[in-house]
Amino acid sequence: MKNVPYRINLSEEYIPKQWYNVRADMKEKPEPLLNPATMKPITKPEELGGIFCLELARQELDDTTAFIDIPEEIRDYYRTCRPAPLIRAYNLERALGTPAKIYYKFEGNNTSGSHKLNSAIAQAYYAKAQGITKLTTETGAGQWGTALSMACAYFGIDLTVFMVKGSYQQKPFRRNIIETFGGRVIPSPSDTTQVGRKILEEMPDTSGSLGCAISEAVEKAVNTENCRYVLGSVLNQVLLHQSIIGLEAKTAMELYDEYPDIIIGCAGGGSNLGGLISPFMRDKLRGEKNPYFIAVEPASCPSLSRGSYAYDFCDTGHVTPLAKMYTLGSKFIPSANHAGGLRYHGMSPVISKLYHDGYLDEARSYKQTEVFEAAEIFAKAEGILPAPESSHAIKGAIDEALKCKEAREEKTILFGLTGTGYFDLKAYDSFNSGTMTDRIPDDCELEKYGTELPKI
Ligand SMILES: *Cc1c(COP(=O)(O)O)cnc(C)c1O
Repeated sequence: MKNVPYRINLSEEYIPKQWYNVRADMKEKPEPLLNPATMKPITKPEELGGIFCLELARQELDDTTAFIDIPEEIRDYYRTCRPAPLIRAYNLERALGTPAKIYYKFEGNNTSGSHKLNSAIAQAYYAKAQGITKLTTETGAGQWGTALSMACAYFGIDLTVFMVKGSYQQKPFRRNIIETFGGRVIPSPSDTTQVGRKILEEMPDTSGSLGCAISEAVEKAVNTENCRYVLGSVLNQVLLHQSIIGLEAKTAMELYDEYPDIIIGCAGGGSNLGGLISPFMRDKLRGEKNPYFIAVEPASCPSLSRGSYAYDFCDTGHVTPLAKMYTLGSKFIPSANHAGGLRYHGMSPVISKLYHDGYLDEARSYKQTEVFEAAEIFAKAEGILPAPESSHAIKGAIDEALKCKEAREEKTILFGLTGTGYFDLKAYDSFNSGTMTDRIPDDCELEKYGTELPKI
């Protein structure tokens, strides 16, 4: 047994040369996207070509190519912050008194502070390669907008970000970074789009949602010349780019003869979870290994654990293609006191399918106060201030490690630490001052939105 260091910092040559596409190894593929005009499956990249760059549309629809080359220009940028460290949480293990071995892959070591940069740089690259000069997107808490503004600055692309109004007001610092990198930020819903005006008419006081912001960003992209829309999660292409997380983690563990028994990720739209588990899921799909996969969600937005597996719109204004996914309904908006991201109404179709078919073993949800308790334990032991989103995975890992303590089992746990929490200090403040509350939607509320699913 080799001695595992606290931080496994791989050198540049370990940056993967290819992403891994888990769909290639799924015997049953995720259901196809549906064209919202015809409700027919989308089969050709050209059908998505008005919204997305063509190469990204190809990746979106490619269910068969297992490994896809990462262009050198993208690897060059990855070199600025990758390979991301894999950390053995010796200090947390000691603090918990657990025999379990805990590892986490830390994606917060870049200015955007999260894993989102992995896909942002890829999407900006393909846009540039196609001669696209403008991009639009949405952002919730702001991590995706920040990451994309960095990527657009690097490739010289003009960026407009529709930022969920509640976050725009609560998290001005994110906007400051986006603007520093040259992005334009518009609070959503706004009166700059038709769909925004319609939503404002129906819900004048709304603090907005990701679903609204997506509708606005898509509308602006299709109505602007040489402009495309990009999305930071949920899509197959994003999971593909994020596979770099799992590929690096697997390589780093293999160097020390380690393999995780349990793999845990937080789940908003499913991209970091999908990226982290993909290479390990490959082993499971091929019958070679059998790790236990856990997705962790907020109790206030429990799409996997309490949503329905059905076709739904990806946005509130119903301008996007439909995806078959676990969904709470496209009009669902988590309660205003929910602080910690992961607030999208749906879930990646790949993750949804893997969960539905039993390959993703478990989805569980936690209340935000218990998530922040876990964040505090982790911060004290490991010296990293985690993002609230990431802290859902931390809570999952701590609970599993405590089960190991009870059962005196030395399991190996791997979880994704997706980012840092420097821009979530308001949430930390409300937790520290004891004013943070929990609100779990009751069945009635979920049913209200769940019954509005489109009839396919
Ligand atoms: C966006 C984000 C998430 C959730 O998004 P996924 O697509 O589910 O990965 C989690 N953690 C951080 C830090 C994020 O910025």
